[in-house]
Amino acid sequence: MQGLMIHDELLISTILRHADRNFGDQEIVSVTADNPLHRYTYKDCFRRARQLANALRRLGLERGDRVATMAWNDYRHLETYYALTGSGYVCHTVNPRLFPEQIVFIINHAEDRWIFVDVLMVPLLEKIAAQISGVEGFVIMTDEKHMPETSLKNAVCYEALIGGESDEFAWPVFDERSASILCYTSGTTGDPKGVLYDHRSTVLHAYAAVAPDVMRLSSTDCVLPVVPLFHVNAWGIPFAALMVGSKLVFPGPKMGDGETLYQLLEQEEVSLALGVPTVWLALLQYTTKAGKKLNKLNRTVIGGAAVPESMIRAFRDKHDVVVIQGWGMTEMSPLGTVSTPKFGMESLTPDQLVAVRAKAGRGIYGVEMRIVNDEGVELPWDGVAYGSLQVRGPWICSGYFKLEGKSEAHTADGWFDTGDVATIDKQGYMAITDRTKDVIKSGGEWISSIDVENTAMGHEGVSEAAVIGVPHPKWTERPLLIIIRAEGADLDRAQMLAWLEGKIAKWWIPDDVVFVDEIPHTATGKIKKIELRKQFKDYQLPS
Ligand code: AMP
Repeated sequence: MQGLMIHDELLISTILRHADRNFGDQEIVSVTADNPLHRYTYKDCFRRARQLANALRRLGLERGDRVATMAWNDYRHLETYYALTGSGYVCHTVNPRLFPEQIVFIINHAEDRWIFVDVLMVPLLEKIAAQISGVEGFVIMTDEKHMPETSLKNAVCYEALIGGESDEFAWPVFDERSASILCYTSGTTGDPKGVLYDHRSTVLHAYAAVAPDVMRLSSTDCVLPVVPLFHVNAWGIPFAALMVGSKLVFPGPKMGDGETLYQLLEQEEVSLALGVPTVWLALLQYTTKAGKKLNKLNRTVIGGAAVPESMIRAFRDKHDVVVIQGWGMTEMSPLGTVSTPKFGMESLTPDQLVAVRAKAGRGIYGVEMRIVNDEGVELPWDGVAYGSLQVRGPWICSGYFKLEGKSEAHTADGWFDTGDVATIDKQGYMAITDRTKDVIKSGGEWISSIDVENTAMGHEGVSEAAVIGVPHPKWTERPLLIIIRAEGADLDRAQMLAWLEGKIAKWWIPDDVVFVDEIPHTATGKIKKIELRKQFKDYQLPS
């Protein structure tokens, strides 16, 4: 027997309609290439999204067609997100930090019909235009005054495109399992793979994100996503924040600029900011150098890479800001775990709480986790056993776009293998020890490069640390610690090794330390270990 409930399709346009009606006066503030501080309301945003939806229809697009965006975080990008998905087209967010050949690959693979491009990224597309000839035209996301000369074919100005359109548009109703957004993984090997979210998964993920033990989002929050709209939908913020009516602040092209971020955080009274550790490193360095304190920020969600304890302490001790670590991936929309404390932890000391927050966190409802050994046997949640981390749930991909049935990451019993190696403790808190590909095997035992890196980062003379395995005649591999010194620090090898002593297992202590000026990063801000391993493949460890 079935229940007697109204069946409404869980469509992204339902978020828009709810936000429009209930939070119409809420503000959206953006830095853009053509305006240092643009300010308008939800109502304005949705009115313009409806105009854009009419314009898109006029372009002859059909349901399911892919339209790409390549843009920074700002209000026009948000309007495009809603107009495309609300109309039933697929919004393909392209990461401009990928290599040009990868961008060519994904645009062709997705068969994008049109591309919405930030005015600052036009030169990038002009260079590859001949290789993406299937694209019918380009919408340059600016006004007529700032419209650049361009060789891109069928280039239309965004404001001109929507200017003459009616702001009346009835968002269509269709199956909630219809594709909504397409985002390619930035894998370090092989071609990028397309993760195709649907409306249902996007709405459910937003519901999960706003919960008190996840991001604790409400209409009284002001949210600054420094995580880009071109990387896993800025962790779902465009949907979660609008669902509850939070004020939004978009940093546009100024994402990596500590000073601009600081000003936005203070002026706009941002209560929650989200980003990867490298972004916060830049902000913390700026505040230290400029002698400034974050007076308004209440909490920050940090993920995408392990968060060093030193960062959690710096936010807490210098700025009274709580760090909420999250773990997830493109294939997971991305939220999987969040490191918020749970009942029974009220009496933990501040140091014990830091240890909790330094873990990747506990699974949120909607994400099931398990760790398995090489034979696929499930391992205990004891905080010691480590194995391949597998997940399942309604916002986790069941396959890759146009690679149906060819995913090696999916198990026969319906789980997705994340490619991460992890432990899970009795309380359900998961900690990542490594990417499977980056694991260091020394004498048959694994060394957690993340633990060693985080411990090294605790030294004030360290700005960034990476650990890789280098070949060793006796132990197969031994760890090498690669460090960027903090500005003005004169840290040396012996001091670094002495710092690690007693803080990590003796046999995890790296055999050597090298100091470099730069550590390579991927397009999504992760340390490019594959590149480091190449760079140091002939490195001779001291005997
Ligand atoms: P992406 O799909 O680009 O978002 O990358 C996902 C990967 O980033 C995960 O599989 C992890 O390896 C890594 N990652 C994300 N969050 C964390 C975290 N909190 N701690 C350690 N690694 C993380």
